[in-house]
Amino acid sequence: MNHFQEYLQPKSIEEALNDLSSATGSVAVIAGGTDLLLELRQGRHPAIERLVDVSGIDSLRDVRVEGDHIYLGAGVTHKEIISNPLLGEHARCVVEGCGLIGGPQVRNVATIGGNVAHALPAGDGTISLLALDTEVQLATAEGTSWEPLIEIFRGPGEVNFDRKKVLIAGFRFRTKDEKEGSAFQRVMRPQGVAIAILNMAAWLKIGPDGEIERTRISCGPAGPKPFRAYQTEKFLAGKKWDDGVYQQAAEILGGEVSLRTSAHRATKEYRHKLLPVLLQKVIEKAIHRANL
Ligand SMILES: Cc1cc2nc3c(=O)[nH]c(=O)nc-3n(C[C@H](O)[C@H](O)[C@H](O)COP(=O)(O)OP(=O)(O)OC[C@H]3O[C@@H](n4cnc5c(N)ncnc54)[C@H](O)[C@@H]3O)c2cc1C
Repeated sequence: MNHFQEYLQPKSIEEALNDLSSATGSVAVIAGGTDLLLELRQGRHPAIERLVDVSGIDSLRDVRVEGDHIYLGAGVTHKEIISNPLLGEHARCVVEGCGLIGGPQVRNVATIGGNVAHALPAGDGTISLLALDTEVQLATAEGTSWEPLIEIFRGPGEVNFDRKKVLIAGFRFRTKDEKEGSAFQRVMRPQGVAIAILNMAAWLKIGPDGEIERTRISCGPAGPKPFRAYQTEKFLAGKKWDDGVYQQAAEILGGEVSLRTSAHRATKEYRHKLLPVLLQKVIEKAIHRANL
């Protein structure tokens, strides 16, 4: 059985948008294909008439400084992310998250845009970008716009934009300042399942007295959508990290996530036990980096 009828390779975002909107039957963007092709082959996605391959669009592959932001193109592969010095300096949690995705073969072709657009609650690239308060650049026939990344998710595998009319062009987050640090950690089954049992990313800024001035924490799967731990972040703001603060933060985090048992990965109870472990690791690693 054919999984698709037509395979187009546009060279610009405009051409890709036109290829999407002019399709008379089902149509989908394909980048690295590591999610989409697998789903088609395994029968978890109905056959698609037209595939629009965006991997040949140069403007999607850019990583650059733009004022006080870093711009990361949606078509940048995980391999390119982990070897990019700019991202190593300004986005350690993203480098760590993307560096754990799949194996070398997957990371060679899989893209950050595909990880986000797949919209799973625990995509490692997605969770790491959320801790940096990332904005996403959406391209349509009318032009491009920026939105907070957290707002594009509707549910597992679902986004708030029309996939026939919108392309994710890129992402931006602020450059790293003095006394800021970030980190990513996850717990994974040793083999066979691509998505983490639990992952977590943190960004923080250390204040003049050594306190956590501000922090952002994201984790997954902790609900139907990629999750930001706003209550825990609020609690930690202005506090010095010590054992008591850690215990309270872990309790607040446990109360605001929505963990569940999944057949192939872990029980809800096990995930609850992992939460404080990952919290301690990401916060302490981020504090260490902020103080370097
Ligand atoms: C063996 C294996 C191991 C894996 N391990 C991990 C892991 O450890 N952690 C993890 O998070 N993931 C993992 N994955 C999943 C996958 O590799 C990642 O999610 C990857 O980043 C997807 O990127 P892609 O370019 O291959 O996306 P594709 O498969 O090409 O596309 C995925 C979805 O995104 C859409 N899309 C792609 N690009 C755009 C764009 N620019 N604009 C709009 N829509 C777009 C497509 O239409 C499709 O719906 C694994 C996959 C495999 C096969």
